[in-house]
Amino acid sequence: MEQKMLRKYAEMAVKTGINIQPNQTLVIRCPIHGAEFARECAKVAYEAGTKEAVVFYNDEQFSRIRMDKTSREVLCDIKEYQKIQMLNYINTEGGAAFLSIGGSDPEIYKGLDMAKIDEAAKAASKAQEDFRDYTMNSRVQWCVVAIPSEAWATKVFPELPAEEAVEKLWQTIFKVSRLDGDPAQNWKEYTDKQMARREKLNSLNLKTVHLTSKNGTDLYVGLAEDCVWGGGKDITTGGRPYTVAGTPFIANMPTEEIFTAPHKDHVDGIVYGTKPYVYNGNLIKDFVVTFKDGRVVDYDAKEGRELLGQLLDSDENARSIGEIAFVPASSPINRENVLFYNTLFDENAACHIAFGAAYPDTVKGGSEMSREQLMAKGANHSVIHEDVMVGSEDMNIVGITADGTEVQIFVDGEWVF
Ligand code: ZN
Ligand code: ZN
Repeated sequence: MEQKMLRKYAEMAVKTGINIQPNQTLVIRCPIHGAEFARECAKVAYEAGTKEAVVFYNDEQFSRIRMDKTSREVLCDIKEYQKIQMLNYINTEGGAAFLSIGGSDPEIYKGLDMAKIDEAAKAASKAQEDFRDYTMNSRVQWCVVAIPSEAWATKVFPELPAEEAVEKLWQTIFKVSRLDGDPAQNWKEYTDKQMARREKLNSLNLKTVHLTSKNGTDLYVGLAEDCVWGGGKDITTGGRPYTVAGTPFIANMPTEEIFTAPHKDHVDGIVYGTKPYVYNGNLIKDFVVTFKDGRVVDYDAKEGRELLGQLLDSDENARSIGEIAFVPASSPINRENVLFYNTLFDENAACHIAFGAAYPDTVKGGSEMSREQLMAKGANHSVIHEDVMVGSEDMNIVGITADGTEVQIFVDGEWVF
């Protein structure tokens, strides 16, 4: 990738996404193949006044060897320093912001012992629970972007030689990340439009949303009490793009969704997956899930059924959902008509639900609530949060208010407002 574009992409991530503030520490987590991009991000951050840029590299090939050869016990034995590493940066003077750079091989763990990987992933996830409270509650600025790797790019564009696939994936990522022209301005315009939709949804005070598609999806999703669309402290500005301290940031780039917390006990019906889903480096395809009183009571998948079962049995609340998100069929990612095998992109191609935890700030005042208080509102808590795509070109969504009034939200896969 040419330097000029790398620089532009780094500016988008660090300035528009993270919105790094003077004297803040920038913590970058990056795959080793992205070192050049991480360095570019550090330069941008220092120019913007960051106190210190820190990088943690990960090597997926090394992780595969480790997952394969290391015992379960050792994999699950997360050291104390690993649990507090990120928290320590938050607690330094000036605070910290967190940039995660993704782009791994979607099937990096293919062929390995899935149950073992699942256990290791859960142990790692559990160890980061306190840190995740900061990101999920918007107490720190954070942003996830992705860069191509050869393994990923050749999966997305299997017909192309490796080098061309990588180049094409870069171009596709730039396109769907609104990098053409002036990215800061593009993001401002887009964010304003999304905020207007959030305000509209929040003003409707919906109790339930009803999703239907020609593929057989017929799902009633009850919403958590005092739920907020888009989340965040200040519902009039739309929420999640601001930290609790008031610093705007964009958590995912790209992002096309408007989402809220479902009620963990009030989801009923049947829903069909419309895009394959990557879980712990393995694929789940063509799944169907039946809900009763908020919990999955039946499931199937043409590929990865066992894996889906493991996901749903991650803990006692993994069978309930913590997110319902609306994404139009006209989303730039969907228009590319490419399967990315990466949730950051694929979740922004279609309406989705997430098994597991709700974002606390999708409930009014949720950032200040205990897990028990959130659960009482219906916002789910779990060690997992896994987005699965259920939207389609013909999806209809109707909102239902407390007095039974119906409001059309989506017709044929598109926003009505
Ligand atoms: Zn989502
Ligand atoms: Zn999600």
